[in-house]
Parts: sequence; structure tokens; C-alpha cells
Amino acid sequence: MKPVNRSDCEALDRADPLAAKRGSFAIPEGLIYLDGNSLGVLPRNVPARVAEVAEHQWGETLIKSWNEHGWFQLPSRVGDRIARLVGAPHGSVIAGDTISVNLFKLLGAAAKLNPARRVILSDSGNFPSDLYVAQGFRDLMDDSYVLKVVAPEEVMDAIDESVAFTMITEVDYRTARLHDMKAVTARAHAKGALTIWDLAHSAGATPVQLAAANADFALGCTYKYLNGGPGAPAFLYVKPELQNKVQPPLSGWWGHVAPFAFDLEYKPAPGIIRNQCGTQPILSLAALDAALDVWDDVDMTVLRTKSLALCKTYIDLVEQRCAAHGVKVAGPRDMNERGSHVSIHHPQGYAVMQAMIAANVVGDFRAPDMMRFGFTPLYTSFADVWHAVDILARILDKREWDQPQFLAKKAVT
Ligand SMILES: *Cc1c(COP(=O)(O)O)cnc(C)c1O
Repeated sequence: MKPVNRSDCEALDRADPLAAKRGSFAIPEGLIYLDGNSLGVLPRNVPARVAEVAEHQWGETLIKSWNEHGWFQLPSRVGDRIARLVGAPHGSVIAGDTISVNLFKLLGAAAKLNPARRVILSDSGNFPSDLYVAQGFRDLMDDSYVLKVVAPEEVMDAIDESVAFTMITEVDYRTARLHDMKAVTARAHAKGALTIWDLAHSAGATPVQLAAANADFALGCTYKYLNGGPGAPAFLYVKPELQNKVQPPLSGWWGHVAPFAFDLEYKPAPGIIRNQCGTQPILSLAALDAALDVWDDVDMTVLRTKSLALCKTYIDLVEQRCAAHGVKVAGPRDMNERGSHVSIHHPQGYAVMQAMIAANVVGDFRAPDMMRFGFTPLYTSFADVWHAVDILARILDKREWDQPQFLAKKAVT
């Protein structure tokens, strides 16, 4: 393979159809930020929107804003904007709550729709919080459910007639391994099972096609690739045919057919709305709404092409320049089976990452030994990739990581 050099990266930047998008983001001077898969950077238009909603809408219009400024409908309006990015039809996505909370809602909904089955199928590459929520659900159901966790590559074979529903994260948060949503869903349906897809590392990173894949349920967060800000509201999808069959386990008043009738009996609203529970964070939704502006004209296939080119360039450079130091790229070699981040195993991964951060290249660390780098196609350049590997190679070559301040673990890694 021909080695990648700096001028190749510069040429890729010149040919990049998404290059102009970088200007929409407030990237601190001198920082190479490769952690947008954990917390996306601030879109420049967000602070003014939040200030407007706080000072004008909340400050002056106060409670009238629920009607006058459409606060009450904001979760569905924002949901519809996310829908386009995940291949979902209008009226099938709602924004709000967190992934963990939305997952609980969907576990309850899926269980009710497949009552004769008792197996929840997940895989060991899933994000632990998803597994924890499923464990809480299983305990609440007096252990009448079995949470079956298999290796990611065994998921297809493990879908049999015992499975009530699958609970799978499409892109593995560590290895970036991408499940074949269409194939898994088809197999699940053939065996009489439903599917719940977690899109935490897919939304805004890969061209998700929920409707085309015939997925039943999905959810995801917006503070990663969608840049909605720390703790930004999550989203939840229900396939249109199932929406009016869902019995929400968190049956709060925001999902009631007539919340302001104040009936004593819960009666679910038609459609996706019933999956709402209670009052939603309007300031955070306003920030997210503004953050979605930059996505309106993005073609997700163009995004995917750049995402994979960034990841491939990074992998090639790491293998060219850092191979002598025992680094190993995690996940599949076939780029079509990967999401938009790259993790590298290194026995001192934590300390190396701390040294990288001290050198202004921000990624993160995932136990036991992975340095994780996210490539967010709207604001990461190929020059960033070049410099990031240049600095990684230097830190490894000179053992710059081998210092007490880099070896001591912090609370958030
Ligand atoms: C980031 C992430 C979460 C986080 O859940 P929250 O409830 O938003 O904190 C959950 N699942 C996956 C797969 C994730 O990557």
C-alpha cells in the first residue's frame, strides 16, 4: 500500500464537499477534537437561539409561550427533523428524555406486543447502560424475562422462536462494528420477534434507513454526532403500523390524548405522541432545534463517504506510523461494516490518551485498553487526521505518556 502523506490529506480537504460546514461550528483554536462521538462541538448558532428562548420567550412571554412559541409541540417538531436523518417518515420520531429512559419505554412496549415470548436478545458489544436498563426491566417483571447476551457476530444465529425482541446497538461504541439492520430485522420478523435499535453512534454518523429496514423501534441520543449539547434530549422511533398498538409503560400526562382535560384515567394519544411522559426541557430542545439547522441540506450518502474516508485515512496512518508500538485497530477491516469512529488497543491506552489530550488532540478512553477517536464528518478535516496521528506517533516514539500525571485515572474517561 502506498503510504499516506500530508499532502494527500490536504488534497482530500480541497476535494471535500462538506468542507464548508466546519465554519458552522465553534471549534477552539488549535484543538483537534476527535470526541464528537461522545459530545459534539457547539454549533455557532446555538447560543443566540438559547438566549432568545430564555430572555424573550421565557423571560417576557412566560407561560403563554407553550402556545405562542409552540413549546408544547417542540418535541414532535424536533423529532420530525431527526426523522429525515434516520430514514424515518414524518410523525414517527419524538424528541425527549434520555436513551436510558426511552429504552425502558420501548422494552415495555415491545414486551406487551409480543406477550408469549420471554427472551430479550442483546449482544456483548452493547453499551452497558442498555443492558442495565434491561436488567431493571427483567427484575421488575419478577424475572419472568431472560436477558440473553451473545457475541455480536452470533446475533443472527441466536434469533430463534424464543426471542420476544432484540435490543441491539447498531454501531458498537468501542469497536465501531456495524450491524446489518436490514438483515437482523428480517431474520427477527421471520422468527416472530420484534426489534429495538439503539442509534447512539449511528444518528448523524451513518445513513440509517429505519423505514427501509422495517425496524420496529429505535432510539438514540443527540449530544453525540447531532451536536445538541451536554444532556441534550434523546429521540425515540416507533414504526407507524405499531404506533397505536403501543401501551406506554411510562404513561404520563404528556402522552395522554387530552392532557388538559385532567381526566383521572389514562388514555393514550394516537401516534408517536403517546411515548412522551412528562414536561420536556424546552431550553435544551431549543438548543437541539438550532443544532439541527446545519443538517438540513446534508446528503447522508455524502456524509458516509467522507466518514469512511476519514476513518480509513486514520487507520492507514496509524498502521504506517505506529505499528512498532503494539497498537492494534479494533473492529472489522471492511469499512462497510464500520461506523464513524476508530478505537485502537494499546496496553497503556489510558496514559497515551491523557498525553494526547495534553497535546490538544482530544479523544477518549474505553476500558480495558482502547483509545477511541470519533470522526464527525461535518467538522473534522483530513488535516486533523494527519496531525492527530503525527502527535500520536511522537507520544509513542518518545514515551511521552510515561509520566505520573498521565498514568493517574480520572473519574470520567
Ligand atoms: C451514549 C450511549 C448511551 C447513553 O445513554 P443516556 O441515557 O443518554 O446517558 C446509551 N446507549 C448507547 C449505545 C450509547 O452509546
